[in-house]
Amino acid sequence: MKITKKVLSVLLAVFLMAGCAAMALAAGGNLNDSITWNYDESTQILTVSGTGDMPNYGGQNSPPWYANNYRVETIVIEDGVTSIGFAAFYSCKTLKTVTIPASVKKIEGYAFYGTALETVNYAGSKKDWNNIQVDDSAFSKIDSATGAASAIEFTIHYNYGAIVCPWCGGEHTGFFGGFVGWIHGILATIFGAKY
Ligand SMILES: [Zn+2]
Repeated sequence: MKITKKVLSVLLAVFLMAGCAAMALAAGGNLNDSITWNYDESTQILTVSGTGDMPNYGGQNSPPWYANNYRVETIVIEDGVTSIGFAAFYSCKTLKTVTIPASVKKIEGYAFYGTALETVNYAGSKKDWNNIQVDDSAFSKIDSATGAASAIEFTIHYNYGAIVCPWCGGEHTGFFGGFVGWIHGILATIFGAKY
């Protein structure tokens, strides 16, 4: 009887600790019917997944990660999401890196306002990026001393995450490209991958 009690209390303690750890490490939920979010505190990565446009925020309507705005360092928007909502990452002061899929066609106003953004990893080409409808205020900040608005300066890495040919380092798409890629794959197998 005594042993059982002890075992039960140990089990209970383990459950409670596991519960607390889970609460501290992850948060997430739905933004709308087709888009979900997840924040992993251990990596400080906020991930937005799903299909279609993200909701717009602002005013009394804060995004659900607003409480973590001072901790998020990386945002990953997954393929399928077609817009980045108004004021979605407004004032994420610790944000340094965002990954944007080629599916995004619109970046709404103040989306990255007041962030410390340094790097955008973009899955599409430079041409694709220029075709995105980006609001003027999407990547802006206010100088605390002068009160003047300016653009956040960041680096864009195009074709991020693209599968690179092990032989020529390029990308092979389409029927003919696929054939060239196949040949290059054989060359890489025989002579060893160069990339
Ligand atoms: Zn190649």
